[in-house]
Amino acid sequence: MTTLFSDTIVALSTPPGAGALAVIRLSGPAAVAITASVFSKKSFAEAAGNTLHYGTLRDPNSGEILDEVVVGLFRAPKSFTREDVVEISCHGSDYVVRQVLALLLRHGARLAEAGEFTKRAFLSGAMDLAQAEAVADLIAADSALSHRVALNQLRGGFSQELRELRTRLIKFAALLELELDFGEEDVEFADRTGLAALLAEVRGVVRGLLRSFELGNVIKNGITTVIAGRPNAGKSTLLNALLREERAIVSAIPGTTRDFIEDEVSIDGLRFRFVDTAGLREDTADEVEAIGVARTRERVRKASLLLYLFDLAELTPAEVRAEILALTTGLKLPVLAVGNKTDLASAESIAAFETEFRDNPTSNANEIPLVLLAAGQNQGIEALQTALVKQVRGSALKNNASATIVTNVRHARALETAAAHLAAVQTGLDTGFGTELLAADLRHALSALGEITGEISSEDLLTSIFTQFCIGK
Ligand code: GDP
Ligand code: ZN
Repeated sequence: MTTLFSDTIVALSTPPGAGALAVIRLSGPAAVAITASVFSKKSFAEAAGNTLHYGTLRDPNSGEILDEVVVGLFRAPKSFTREDVVEISCHGSDYVVRQVLALLLRHGARLAEAGEFTKRAFLSGAMDLAQAEAVADLIAADSALSHRVALNQLRGGFSQELRELRTRLIKFAALLELELDFGEEDVEFADRTGLAALLAEVRGVVRGLLRSFELGNVIKNGITTVIAGRPNAGKSTLLNALLREERAIVSAIPGTTRDFIEDEVSIDGLRFRFVDTAGLREDTADEVEAIGVARTRERVRKASLLLYLFDLAELTPAEVRAEILALTTGLKLPVLAVGNKTDLASAESIAAFETEFRDNPTSNANEIPLVLLAAGQNQGIEALQTALVKQVRGSALKNNASATIVTNVRHARALETAAAHLAAVQTGLDTGFGTELLAADLRHALSALGEITGEISSEDLLTSIFTQFCIGK
């Protein structure tokens, strides 16, 4: 077996700090030998891969027993790094972990650098670049949905989709290059109609992947949700209810919440970052308040979702629509209208809102979902959470038929580059550009797509094309 690295690395793979268990991982040619020299189980050095072994770790010099452990053995190439990998599960105290690490270092392992296990996995060909980046995302993932996205990317779903597209495009690129080689004016090896059809398909997929980046970003970074509304509508109270802790200052004096208070809460696998804004009031003479209103608009512009909160007893449905419109004119973001203080509101005003927002079949075009609650009584919070999730899933996922979600900025940039060049090929086809220009744009598009999976650089594109298509065969 050929190995890329001659040294064996070791690191604590679980988070530092006291836990029930800690996992210490070794990777490299001496992983098994180093472990065997401190492990009580005699048969370990010869054991098969994908096996678990129970025993004690012992310092052979002092004879001191450090811990009872379970050791997992993964033989090359059937391991994460394709090297021999050993995973030692020991007890999770800092002291034990440090002792075990020190023991392994004394017996020939070297402390791994950040990301070195994943780097080895990439360099050994166990995963492509997109997958390696997914590992980083997976480690950082802290909501159920972002975990699922990272896992899908790790399994190669995303890379696979791109690779298939590239392979089909490469065939056309090769035929175009052949035309160039042939040198005669009106020879067309590459069927222009077929190319146009494939191009339309590829552009559709790239567009879908790019759109998914918006959702991917939202999942990774949280959905910035602005809570806006007039002073005393109950914004701070609602934020508290959502966060279930007293982070925002609740005050009965109108207009006292001038600062923006942010916090995050995970609802059904989606991470929402709520921003409480200063009171929104048009006709205020108070300068500080006026600045607050302007800043609220600024916040809404940058947000992914607007939660407009109002006091059911204070505003009419028409006024609510007008205020939402004032905040969102020119913007395309999902909005939720939330009527607060159902405990104080009259039956008539509640009915008026339900008729205007919920039961009005003529206003379908820009329908704004309505939620009624009493934040101060902690009533209706769950319905609001359901509506929030529905708004995000509805607006983002309906554009993304494939299960693939792009979460990586580098991938998104490469997709944008590819999209631009694919558009240029399309224009070239439509306006009857020469083969040379078509081939050049296609080459750029292919290398952008290839950059994502890290499988190609622009120089070896031609080589790759002609190893697939040998002339005169
Ligand atoms: P903000 O200015 O929009 O942030 O409003 P606050 O959260 O500071 O709330 C203003 C006042 O309304 C406070 O006295 C709250 O206790 C009260 N309040 C909030 N929600 C409710 C509710 O559901 N019912 C009632 N009766 N009062 C509420
Ligand atoms: Zn407030």
